Amino acid sequence: MRAEIIAVGTELLLGQIVNTNAQYLSRGLAELGIDVYYQTVVGDNKERLMQAIDIARGRADLLVFTGGLGPTLDDLTRDALAQYLGRGIELHEPTMNKIISMFAGRGGTFVESNRRQALLVEGAAPLRNDTGLAVGNALKSDGTCYLLLPGPPREMKPMFDNDGATWLKEQLGPVMTLHSVMLKFAGIGESGLEDVLIDLIREQQDPTIAPYAKEGEVAVRVSTKAADAEEASRKLDGTVTEIRRRTLAHLYAEEDVPIEAVIVRMLTEQGRTLTLAESCTGGMVSELITTIPGSAVVFLGGVVSYSNQMKIQQLGVSAELLEGPDAPGAISSETAAAMAKGMRLAADSDFAVSITGNAGPAAAEGKPVGLVYIGLAERGRETRVEKLQLAGDREGIRLRSAKRALYMLWQ
Ligand code: ATP
Ligand code: MG
Repeated sequence: MRAEIIAVGTELLLGQIVNTNAQYLSRGLAELGIDVYYQTVVGDNKERLMQAIDIARGRADLLVFTGGLGPTLDDLTRDALAQYLGRGIELHEPTMNKIISMFAGRGGTFVESNRRQALLVEGAAPLRNDTGLAVGNALKSDGTCYLLLPGPPREMKPMFDNDGATWLKEQLGPVMTLHSVMLKFAGIGESGLEDVLIDLIREQQDPTIAPYAKEGEVAVRVSTKAADAEEASRKLDGTVTEIRRRTLAHLYAEEDVPIEAVIVRMLTEQGRTLTLAESCTGGMVSELITTIPGSAVVFLGGVVSYSNQMKIQQLGVSAELLEGPDAPGAISSETAAAMAKGMRLAADSDFAVSITGNAGPAAAEGKPVGLVYIGLAERGRETRVEKLQLAGDREGIRLRSAKRALYMLWQ
């Protein structure tokens, strides 16, 4: 809806008062989601007022007037609009009674001109005035909405905020806003995920499906426009359910949270503890975990065993695995397993995860860039090792290794 504010009053044109009402209304209309395209100021003159209405009607769907609703003959807003629309004027009885009883209460004499404050453009809805006498007007004619408010700010503000805003919301109908569900995945790349969802992505209309990758994670945002959360979930549920069905092994959250947050939550619920033995990630997994509030409950600590010496001394990895011409080397399944086992035993944690690999840029131990082994030792279970061949630069390999280690824990 496009609005124009028309402030009426010769004092405004003479510079005797500042048009604070226009500012207040502009802000209030913006809050209702209504775009204000123009602000006009016009004097207390019926001809020019009707001209202003005619111009505004051509470029706005809502005309909000302030001023010119009072008792005196220079208060012309209501008359000008009625004449412009070819409508009559009618009396609003409750306002009339209020005016009469007010004068009676004060012992003053009722002056006929006060009657003017109880008049409505024919067919207009009355807007209550709790801080003054003049009744406000709200009406719709030929698709254009008109709101007539008094000039004094102490009357205009509450009238706009109460009955005025209520009436405007009715005219606007339900406001459609964007609702979305964020699905977060681990252990799968962006293209791998796209493969699984390709037909849904191709045929998408409403809801829309937008996959993207950021910070070593893959996400899909499913979005639709709806009036409220209930309608939104009705529109989103089918698509979300189908994506869920296809990606169960990788879908770790249905909100925008990193996997480390889910791991901390999971371990907290299980009452289990974690330690880490990191080589090529240099403490990155520890960093990810400790950014999550409450991680102290589950994360005991870790060792950054970057050198062979540290792997041997701190984690008890056998030198035979690391050194010698026939040894598997630091970047190997055997070393990953030994690091995880050694870490878990040393700290007596429920889980220990190890990472060892070549993040680049050059081959190491004759092993290619991107070759990474992740070990997972768990109390009472056999240690598992996953071998990855990752593509990308050093930072990318390190980050994806770290996320992958968390994914192994989640599985
Ligand atoms: P009244 O019953 O007081 O005559 P009205 O609705 O006829 O009210 P006006 O006569 O136009 O309104 O203005 C009354 C007073 O309200 C002005 O003297 C001024 O103090 C204030 N006023 C009017 N318009 C504005 C405005 N746009 N911004 C700020 N104050 C205004
Ligand atoms: Mg007046």
